[in-house]
Amino acid sequence: MDFNKALILGIESSCDDTAASVLEINSKGSEIRSAIVHNQFNLHKEYGGVVPEIAARAHAELIDVVVEKALKSAKVVMADISAIGVTAGPGLIGGVLSGLMFAKGLSVSTNKPLIGVNHLAGHALTPRLTNKVAFPYLVLLVSGGHCQFLIVHSYKKYERLGGTIDDAPGEAFDKAARLLGLQQPGGPSIEEAAIKGDVSRFDLPRPLLDREDCNFSFSGLKTALMRKRNELTEKQGGLFEKDVCDLSASFQQAMHDVIIEKSVRAIDLYLKFTNGNQTFAIAGGVAANKKIRHSLKKICETKKVDFLAPPLELCTDNAAIIAYAAAERFFHGDYDDTTISARPRWPLDNQKPAILGSGKKGSKA
Ligand code: AMP
Ligand code: MG
Repeated sequence: MDFNKALILGIESSCDDTAASVLEINSKGSEIRSAIVHNQFNLHKEYGGVVPEIAARAHAELIDVVVEKALKSAKVVMADISAIGVTAGPGLIGGVLSGLMFAKGLSVSTNKPLIGVNHLAGHALTPRLTNKVAFPYLVLLVSGGHCQFLIVHSYKKYERLGGTIDDAPGEAFDKAARLLGLQQPGGPSIEEAAIKGDVSRFDLPRPLLDREDCNFSFSGLKTALMRKRNELTEKQGGLFEKDVCDLSASFQQAMHDVIIEKSVRAIDLYLKFTNGNQTFAIAGGVAANKKIRHSLKKICETKKVDFLAPPLELCTDNAAIIAYAAAERFFHGDYDDTTISARPRWPLDNQKPAILGSGKKGSKA
């Protein structure tokens, strides 16, 4: 096998994006030959959140079309592909199954190796796809479904320093936007409304800042926002635009303060483990927030750590990062076979006890 060269087909369907990508690995690095993402936003819009059954059906209907588009746009055929990397979890089980079953069929019919990728590993390894960052580095994953600090020691060894004990930050932004009557996805709506808002008008809590760990909690903050909204609504009969902007600004500031302070702690812990090159990277949709991004960059400057924010299309769900995570395993001969199962829950660090609680199927991510 040529350890410098591979063409990996990536497939992603764990939430509400049906995605496929062809990634070329060559002696110079990685080149994304194609990256198709079909978002299901319109299908779920009226429900105020992703409906798992609708998502699963939509993935099943489109996955072959999206894969075909990815191959075509990369100007390759299946015979050129070295291996198929597919998200095997964690995520909404119906969606994961749609992608995984399709990939299994494709692998059997084309005789190509199958690699079942942990979606979180896709996000965590993105700094290597974009910037060839050396191990070990620190990643903060802040998305609609996940929130954790990870030291990435190798392509298969991840150490979780902390994470959320309830909602993910994107989920908190989305719920806050719903409370304020703003459009989904909530993060960009809150960010926009906050520009015109007064951050000091409402005093919202900064959950878990009194605890010295790197864990987060966002559900109390959301409840505090709801109380302020209800008080105003009772007093005035509704919310004025200024109220929405001020509440958005206060909410974003509270989210920001908690994420920044916990990041300072995580960086300090990480720096104890490592010398030499030191990198802190972010991933996930919330990484798009300019205020949060700007402050993370500043604390990295202070701590003399390289800050890396991959382009947004690689921060949110896509298949190029899945293809890359598969590529790292491909070069180690680390394949799966068709007995691989879809895993709705699949923590990257299985040494640490679960922080999100354990269900019948094991600990959540
Ligand atoms: P992902 O789960 O990675 O696909 O990212 C989607 C999540 O990111 C949603 O919950 C969005 O509300 C959130 N998000 C996107 N843009 C922003 C932003 N500018 N500020 C805060 N959250 C954001
Ligand atoms: Mg998504």
